[in-house]
Amino acid sequence: MEDFLKLDDQLSKDELKLRDSINKWVYADVIPSMPDAFEQSVFPKEIIPRLSSAGILGIKLPKEYGGRAMKDVAYGLACQELEKADSAIRSFVSIQNSLCMFPIFKYGTEEIKQKFLPKMTKGECLSFFGLTEESGGSDPSNLQTTAKKVSGGWELNGNKKWIGISPIADIGIIWAQTDHGIRGFIVEKNFEGFEAKDIPQRMSLRIAKVGEVKLNKVFVPDSHFLPGTEKGISAALSCLNEARYGIAWGAVGAATDCFDRTLAYLKDRELFGKSAASFQLIQKELADMFTEINKTQAFNLQMGRLKEKGECPPVMISMAKMNACKNALDISRRCRDLLGANGISLEYHVIRHMLNLESVYTYEGTDNIHHLIVGQYLTGHKAFC
Ligand SMILES: Cc1cc2nc3c(=O)[nH]c(=O)nc-3n(C[C@H](O)[C@H](O)[C@H](O)COP(=O)(O)OP(=O)(O)OC[C@H]3O[C@@H](n4cnc5c(N)ncnc54)[C@H](O)[C@@H]3O)c2cc1C
Repeated sequence: MEDFLKLDDQLSKDELKLRDSINKWVYADVIPSMPDAFEQSVFPKEIIPRLSSAGILGIKLPKEYGGRAMKDVAYGLACQELEKADSAIRSFVSIQNSLCMFPIFKYGTEEIKQKFLPKMTKGECLSFFGLTEESGGSDPSNLQTTAKKVSGGWELNGNKKWIGISPIADIGIIWAQTDHGIRGFIVEKNFEGFEAKDIPQRMSLRIAKVGEVKLNKVFVPDSHFLPGTEKGISAALSCLNEARYGIAWGAVGAATDCFDRTLAYLKDRELFGKSAASFQLIQKELADMFTEINKTQAFNLQMGRLKEKGECPPVMISMAKMNACKNALDISRRCRDLLGANGISLEYHVIRHMLNLESVYTYEGTDNIHHLIVGQYLTGHKAFC
C-alpha cells in the first residue's frame, strides 16, 4: 500500500532497511506456501533460521544475549510485515520475543538468562507462555495451577489451555499460584509429568500449534524459578503488554495485505460491463478501509516512538490493540465480501487472514477487556466485575 501519510519520513534508514527486507522475503518466499500450510495445519519450521539471521528473534535484547538491541518501532515494523504472511508467523515471533525472552530477561537470574536467551535468539530453543486456563483467560488472577515449594525446587500441578506453540516448544513460562501469589517458572519439555498436546479442529491460526498443557507433579528446580516475578500477576501482565504492542502492528499488516489484494482484484474485475472498482458503493468500502489502515499505522508509529521514550502507558497499548484488531478484522471481512465467491478460497489469502484475525481479536485480552481498560482510565471506575 502506498505511504499516503508519508510515515516513512519518520523512520530511520535502519528501520526502513529492516522493514523492506522482511517485506521482500515474506512476499517472495513465505506467502506462497501459506495456503497449503494453513490447510494442512503445518508450522513452517524452515522459516526459523531466517527469522533468526534477520535478527527478529531477540530483536530488542542486548547483544550480550544474542540480541540486536533494536528499538520498539523496529520490532513493530517486523511484526507488521510478518503478519502480511500469516498471523501465526507473527504470533510465533510475539511469543518467542515478548512473552518468553522478555520475562526471562526481565525477571530471571543471570544464570538462566545465559542458559536460554542465546539459544532462543538462534531459534534453537522454542518457547511458550502458559497463563490461560479453562477457568477463563480474561481473569488470569483466578488461575488454578499451583507451585508448591519442595526441597531444591517446586512442584507444579495444573492445566493450561490455548497455549500457542506449546506442542512444538522446548521450554515454557508457566504462571502458577504459590503461597506468596502468582509467580513465573520455566518448564522444560522433558521434565517428568509435563505434556503438551495440539488442540485439533481449530479453524483459526491453523499454522501455529496451539495446545493444551498438563502439569502433573512436575518438579521444577530452583534455578528455573523467575525471582523477579515477585510482583505477582503484574509481572505476567507486563509480558502481555509487550506482546499486545506487537499485535497492534501485526494486525494492521494483515489488514494491509487484504486491502492490497482486494484493490488489485477489483481493478481487474469486470461487472455489468465495467470495472468493479468504478462502482460508488465499492469505492466507499475502499475509501473507508484505506482511511482506517492509515489511521492505525499513524497511531502505531506514534505509540512506538512514545514507548521508545518510556512514555507509553499500558492503557495506550490496550487502545492500540483494540483499535488495530477491530479494524483489521472488519477490513478482512469486508475484503472477503468484495472478492465474492473467490473470497472464500485460500488461493486469494483473504479468508485465511480473516479466520486468523478472529483469534488475534480474542487473545491477549479480548476487545471487551481492552474497552474496560480504556473505560477505567477515562472514568476511574473498574468495570471488570
Ligand atoms: C489461537 C489462540 C492462541 C492463544 N495463545 C495463548 C498463549 O500462548 N498463552 C496464553 O496464556 N493464552 C493464550 N490464548 C488464550 C487467550 O488469551 C484467551 O482465550 C483470552 O484471554 C480470552 O479468554 P477465554 O477464551 O477464557 O474467554 P473468556 O474470558 O471466557 O471471555 C469470553 C467472552 O466474555 C467476555 N468477557 C470476559 N470478561 C468480561 C467482563 N468482565 N466484562 C465484559 N465482558 C467480558 C470476553 O470479552 C469474551 O467475549 C490463546 C487463545 C487463542 C484463541
